[in-house]
Amino acid sequence: ERKRRLSDIQFFRAQYRVALRNCGLINPEDITEYIACEGYFALADVLLNWTPAQVVDAIKQSGLRGRGGAGFSTGRKWELAAAAQGPEKYVVCNADEGDPGAFMDRSILEGDPHSVLEAMAIAGYAIGAREGYIYVRAEYPIAVDRLERAIDQARQYGLLGRRILNTNFSFDIDLRLGAGAFVCGEETALLRSAVGERGEPRPRPPYPAQCGLWGKPTLLNNVETYANVPVIIREGPAWFASLGTENSRGTKVFSLAGKVLNTGLIEVPMGTTLRTVVFDIGGGIPGGRQFKAVQTGGPSGGCIPERHLDTPIDYESLKQLGSMMGSGGMIVLDETDCIVDIAKFYLQFSQDESCGQCTPCRVGTKRMLEILERITQGQGQMEDLNELEELSREVMDASLCGLGQTAPNPVLSTLKYFRDEYEAHIRDKRCPAGVCRALLDY
Ligand code: SF4
Repeated sequence: ERKRRLSDIQFFRAQYRVALRNCGLINPEDITEYIACEGYFALADVLLNWTPAQVVDAIKQSGLRGRGGAGFSTGRKWELAAAAQGPEKYVVCNADEGDPGAFMDRSILEGDPHSVLEAMAIAGYAIGAREGYIYVRAEYPIAVDRLERAIDQARQYGLLGRRILNTNFSFDIDLRLGAGAFVCGEETALLRSAVGERGEPRPRPPYPAQCGLWGKPTLLNNVETYANVPVIIREGPAWFASLGTENSRGTKVFSLAGKVLNTGLIEVPMGTTLRTVVFDIGGGIPGGRQFKAVQTGGPSGGCIPERHLDTPIDYESLKQLGSMMGSGGMIVLDETDCIVDIAKFYLQFSQDESCGQCTPCRVGTKRMLEILERITQGQGQMEDLNELEELSREVMDASLCGLGQTAPNPVLSTLKYFRDEYEAHIRDKRCPAGVCRALLDY
């Protein structure tokens, strides 16, 4: 019992909750509980006391960057959308979370849906939009149900709809359900899918801030990004900017999974090291086994080895290591995980989810997958490793959207840090982790 309590203390000690502040604490189906935690205070303050330009400025000052993966400045996005011409503009929330093992957005929508609605209304006021849409996966039925209830309740309380809080500002929100295509999380594919078109990415520019839903200027942020907004307004941008690192402000939610004692959703200030996450919050590797790598960024990211565990978590540092922040998937691997098999798993995922528009993404990832398959079957050759690297560069350079541009990352990062494991499969016909069944027969 004492050991369990100590482990619980460790799990929470290095965490700091901003986006997840209300999750698990309030009843998400009761708007009064959200209001009791100062919910909708930021919206009221903004509508009564701030100009739209001041709101945009506060988001810029906070240093908030998109939590969906790319890390673009949120304030800059709001500024571009506010500057776009036209009476018709839209605010959209990307809730099409699809990375394997990631459920950050789902937890916010299920645990604190009003935080997203409040943020979208604030965004609508800031950019001059009257309508918002949440594009949410149909595979999240509880999130969809809670969002619907939350929207109804907010309308009843005069916090959505016409003349919010008796001001001249009107704003309402509707849902659009995604049908399970991973690529619809890419912003241009999402915007097409939301209006009933085929969910395929298109070239940018024009960016959504210029040409989004129905060809109109559209502000698009993901769930976690929005969840930060009411707190930034309430506590002030300087407070938010005081958390994290110089270029990555605030906190980040991760779904910590894999070979650690404590798994689950965590939120840490940017700049926290990977070692703290894996060994303090995660409690280390169970069963006395050896840590092998931590995979961040889902199918767009890479595997980071032990020697880089003291790297602070921020957008640039993870990229430098050949990985990505991504939306927040974090999977810990130990000595019983085969690194080639892991690379194959993620590449297979990207291959399955490729929309097929561009040949490098559609065919290049297929060729790479065939090579990985051969290696795990004991039929690989040393030249295959160079071939994998070459194909990776071609797929990255010639793909239209982020899915293809980042799909080779799991292969490149594992080749960079764990080349010896690939070589063991090819040269010695041996899988060091004992996972690749075909090699056990050699
Ligand atoms: Fe589709 Fe892949 Fe091209 Fe993206 S890179 S548009 S997913 S084929």
